[in-house]
Amino acid sequence: MYRAYVALGSNLGERAGHLRAATAAMNALPGTRVTAASSIYASAAMGADEPQPDYYNAVVGLDTELAPRRLLDALQRIEHDAGRTRIAGVRNTARTLDLDILLFDDLVIAEHGLHVPHPRLQDRAFVVLPLAEIAPECVVPGVGPVFALVPRVAGQHIARIADSTIAAG
Ligand code: ATP
Ligand code: CA
Ligand code: CA
Repeated sequence: MYRAYVALGSNLGERAGHLRAATAAMNALPGTRVTAASSIYASAAMGADEPQPDYYNAVVGLDTELAPRRLLDALQRIEHDAGRTRIAGVRNTARTLDLDILLFDDLVIAEHGLHVPHPRLQDRAFVVLPLAEIAPECVVPGVGPVFALVPRVAGQHIARIADSTIAAG
């Protein structure tokens, strides 16, 4: 059994609904249980060429028997089922659902199409803050404990949506 942390993002459609549905879909994957879920956070879209709706973001922790590639495949299927469309070569487009593997046990993976820890994890308040909410002591390989990343993203504008959670039930 592995422990993984997954970042969720949505800035199209019923954003909180997409995050909740994705959490339920991850919990229904074979050999997989969502064991922790953060609050939802809202922040402006980064790196977009034109104005986009604000993002809703969250992080979940899961116990899974799926190997990293199998988990990535499953997450991309869930994105697709949520109506995510990709245009080859175009980055940072608005999306109904984005699921990124942040951490997978204490593994370091550098393969075509899969980098773990997620290379931009520590730069993003919308990842660091929800991850710190559910796993402050967790160590990011090569980077350090999650709680120590919080001051580094303190300048970024982000709002925790009070009492809003993606936990099932
Ligand atoms: P960013 O990675 O900066 O958050 P993004 O999420 O917008 O960007 P996508 O277009 O969703 O990027 O994904 C591009 C590719 O990233 C995917 O096809 C996937 O193969 C690859 N990828 C590499 N590492 C990971 C990871 N840890 N989790 C999810 N996808 C990953
Ligand atoms: Ca992403
Ligand atoms: Ca992604």
